[in-house]
Amino acid sequence: MDHFNYRDGALYAEDVPLSRIAEAVGTPVYVYSSATLERHYRVFAEALSGLDAHIYYAMKANSNLAVLNTLAALGAGVDVVSEGELRRALAAGIPASKIVFSGVGKTRGELDFALRAGIHEINVESINELHLLNDVAGALGVTADIAIRVNPDVDAKTHEKISTGKKENKFGIDIDRAPEVFALAARLPNLNPITVACHIGSQLVDLAPYRAAFLKLAETASALRAAGIDIKRIDLGGGLGVPYKGEEPPSPAVYGDLVREVFGGLDYQLMFEPGRLIAANAGILLARVIFMKNGDERRFMILDAAMNDLIRPALYEGHHDLVPIVERPAGALEAPTDVVGPVCESGDTFAKGRALPDIADGELVAFKSAGAYGAVMASSYNSRLLPAEVLVRGDEFAVVRRRQTYEELIGADSLAPWQNGAVGQAAE
Ligand SMILES: *Cc1c(COP(=O)(O)O)cnc(C)c1O
Repeated sequence: MDHFNYRDGALYAEDVPLSRIAEAVGTPVYVYSSATLERHYRVFAEALSGLDAHIYYAMKANSNLAVLNTLAALGAGVDVVSEGELRRALAAGIPASKIVFSGVGKTRGELDFALRAGIHEINVESINELHLLNDVAGALGVTADIAIRVNPDVDAKTHEKISTGKKENKFGIDIDRAPEVFALAARLPNLNPITVACHIGSQLVDLAPYRAAFLKLAETASALRAAGIDIKRIDLGGGLGVPYKGEEPPSPAVYGDLVREVFGGLDYQLMFEPGRLIAANAGILLARVIFMKNGDERRFMILDAAMNDLIRPALYEGHHDLVPIVERPAGALEAPTDVVGPVCESGDTFAKGRALPDIADGELVAFKSAGAYGAVMASSYNSRLLPAEVLVRGDEFAVVRRRQTYEELIGADSLAPWQNGAVGQAAE
């Protein structure tokens, strides 16, 4: 459920007409609903009631400070995957004690920064990383609480580019090697291995891979305890899917029931890292039609948003419903339309043959479910400006990231020292 609905024929974000935001901020612009973010977080938290559950929002889904702040106010911690994200989390006011650090390739500098910040836990993904972290912790004179991410070799049955829990994926250590790797970590003087972690993929629409992974995790954790390793927590990762086009992913309640079924009687603190579930349907990307173009074979809708603003369709065939800001009457005639951006690549296509009503040049349209893995993946390819982001709350809205300026876009470039002439003089 989200808070983007038609009222009297106009699309609103909560109590704000989207046309008003487009007028004030321009397009393309991401618009987030506070009420939807809060609702998703609460529904997930309530689904885990009765468990010793701790939620670390996976901020790579949407790392805007205002979004982080909204979730932090509800008690969320965050899962970060880079020093940049860690800095953002701290800047948003999230206490270090509520930050965990995941990722398959953290550098010495990043580990050092994380330990100095005093974060809750670092999720280690390889033996080399164990040694590096032990080294860095030793130099700082601290002992690092760590999770070791295991790869349970479970097929998440999601898109191959967002599947992470199979043996051939780069993530975690083979679950069969957990006893030996945890034993090694326990021997290293500056590490304190207390958590078994796992994250098998994103946009999961089936509970079965979770069940398989959870059972393996529970078994592994108890084997580790039996071997004398003091496992205190299990991190179940994120990955719960959302409906982009009529999928019916397991509800948080059903997911919570499975967690209770597997871990309910066991004495572990449980950690969760949902990203998409919290943010996806809490955001839309608002764009304007530059031109409609009727070819012999196809009808094209050319938008002022492009793959650099929202890359999910180009990157992993992501689907986003597209709706006009001015509501069409039920049963309005629709025709197959290719929805594209202005970028000079055929891959800059949001949808092919999408059934859409007649839409005029200059009209506003919205891509639904764009709150996760949208703005965070934006680039300035084709020297297009990074889009603006807006947060709505009730009848208020605020720009929470201003649109990039041309000065910022170009200003970081410079000429090499041997290019001392002004451009244009070289031809003489
Ligand atoms: C990406 C990621 C998540 C969040 O995945 P969602 O599908 O957005 O819920 C959680 N944990 C880790 C380690 C991740 O890399």
